[in-house]
Amino acid sequence: MTFATRFAPSPTGYLHRGHAFSALTAFEAARAAGGRFVLRIEDIDRTRCRPEFTEAIFEDLAWLGLDWERPARVQSEHMIDYEAALDRLRGRGLLYRCFKTRKEIVEAAASAPHGPEEPFRGDPLPPEEEEALLAEGKGFAWRLSLDAAREALGGFDGLAFVEDGHGSVQARPDLAGDVVLARKDVGVAYHLAVVVDDALQRIDHVIRGVDLFEATHIQRLLQALLDLPTPTYRHHPLLTDAEGRRFAKRDRAETLRDLRGRGVSPQALRAELGFS
Ligand code: GLU
Repeated sequence: MTFATRFAPSPTGYLHRGHAFSALTAFEAARAAGGRFVLRIEDIDRTRCRPEFTEAIFEDLAWLGLDWERPARVQSEHMIDYEAALDRLRGRGLLYRCFKTRKEIVEAAASAPHGPEEPFRGDPLPPEEEEALLAEGKGFAWRLSLDAAREALGGFDGLAFVEDGHGSVQARPDLAGDVVLARKDVGVAYHLAVVVDDALQRIDHVIRGVDLFEATHIQRLLQALLDLPTPTYRHHPLLTDAEGRRFAKRDRAETLRDLRGRGVSPQALRAELGFS
């Protein structure tokens, strides 16, 4: 039996306890199974990611006692792989250009017939209108058309994934609306890069926080559209602090470097997080 899992942080800040918990969960699962543990740096968003945070990820994980297959995959070095996947989807008529600004999307949501929570569904523009906007130099994102995807697959009923320990889950990609697969500013988007990389890195177990459970529904659809295998998923609970709040970079949670700086040992942190 093979077993390959990964930890895929975005270098938008320093790692904190929540990341350590997630990385250790995946690493220890790979070790228990005698499998592979892979590290992936998800840095396609050049507006938010910084190289010094990537370096810090390597350092902090090594300090924690983790070891991963070298070299780690750094997404920004592989844009060509994501472009190839986008080309495939475009070639099948599954993507359309969306010229709407963030503000226009928020406004459209506010007046949606079923309220602001209704998933975004756009409409491809008629070719003349599109050409005019392109000629004006107006920016656009590529969105996945749920209607076209549904038609290509003959419906979404056959889309399921296994949640480890819970059996088969029916994927509901329709709940997310027409997701962006290539952002206006960075040329690719999270969901696309993740499914391409999970396949290229031969990941058969995706272990990550439950905050990404919804993402799995979309990623399952993309796997079907790109003829990629579907890994087994395990979404672990998020680590919370003494007040029950989850650790998050934006809350300025104490980072692994801070812990290290005040003399906490990796063994002590591992024990605190429930790992021996
Ligand atoms: N890069 C994502 C994050 O840091 C994780 C992606 C994933 O595990 O699929 O939240």
